[in-house]
Amino acid sequence: MVIEAEHAAPSDQVVAAPADRLGDADLVPELRRLERLIARAEARRADIIAIAHRRGVPQAQGFASPTAWLIALTADPPSVCRSRVRMALALRMMPHAAAAFAQGDLSGCRVRLLADACASSPQVFARDEVLLVSQARSLSARAFPKALSHWQRLADPDRALADAERAFQARRLCVSATWQGMVRLDGDLDPESGQTVLTAIRSLAEPAALDPADSRTPAQRRADALVEICRRHLDSSDRPRRGGERPHLILALSPGELAADGLVDLEAGPIPAEAARRLACDAQLTPTVLDGHGRLTAVGRRARVVPPALRRALEARDGGCTHPGCDVPARWCDAHHIRHWAHGGPTTLANLRLLCRRHHRLEHEAGHLPQRE
Ligand SMILES: [Zn+2]
Ligand SMILES: [Zn+2]
Repeated sequence: MVIEAEHAAPSDQVVAAPADRLGDADLVPELRRLERLIARAEARRADIIAIAHRRGVPQAQGFASPTAWLIALTADPPSVCRSRVRMALALRMMPHAAAAFAQGDLSGCRVRLLADACASSPQVFARDEVLLVSQARSLSARAFPKALSHWQRLADPDRALADAERAFQARRLCVSATWQGMVRLDGDLDPESGQTVLTAIRSLAEPAALDPADSRTPAQRRADALVEICRRHLDSSDRPRRGGERPHLILALSPGELAADGLVDLEAGPIPAEAARRLACDAQLTPTVLDGHGRLTAVGRRARVVPPALRRALEARDGGCTHPGCDVPARWCDAHHIRHWAHGGPTTLANLRLLCRRHHRLEHEAGHLPQRE
């Protein structure tokens, strides 16, 4: 950004000295100085935009709106230009905020939040502006939006209720398979539902973060936590059954395919055969017979790979996940075949051990997945 000040006093210069000549102790004051300078430049830009709008300059130059004019002028994205115009026009209604902005005492981000508050309840905002501007100057990045939303609730309780209802109606969740074979989640939750989801995910993700041996990123831990919550839901016996059947992953494989290497197909996309073997370690099997055209001709009796009596003996012996240091209880563990049944291993107590989902995955796939740098 180039800022040309009319009277270039030293504090108005963007480059006072080459950056790499600054000492460590100079970096923070220099950043603070620049933040103020940027705020003042942004305030000046907002002023120019507002004046151009008032004088009808965009229309005189053939543009339908100040936003279209700004897009043509700066080549910045429409959303950015729209927000700049909105802020420029809002500042005319916020004299105290505008003065603090021009002084460099308020950042553009803070002014944008104030502008939203002003747009929501203009009269109450005019009454409380001095207080709100002083909060904008003094409160932390986390505290200020909270203070603003608290103010908004008091300023216009009916509107706050309507906003809460609108937030609730806007809840949505999209879950879709992508062409790369990943599943994408995208959504918005109202504050209360969102808090429920956050609390549930944190309850699983945060204890793991304390484990120094856990090398997953926070984003990976949250993803694993969400999947674990869904699995526990599917495993729990008190949830509604679909057609008498607990809905689970369904894999249609021949024993030969299960024993081989490579990929096998799930509805959402392909997974490694090793992952299929992990799922098959402790699964419910339905023997099926296909005719020469791949059509189903016979279905045998469904049975658990690890029968209930053996599972109880295993839980009594292992107590929970057998990975060193792991304390996941038995009911959330898989029965892992030390030598897989697809490779001829027997389903006996001696060939089984309990592993939680994470360690079960580690056991099967750690050596089979491409190593990340
Ligand atoms: Zn296993
Ligand atoms: Zn474990």
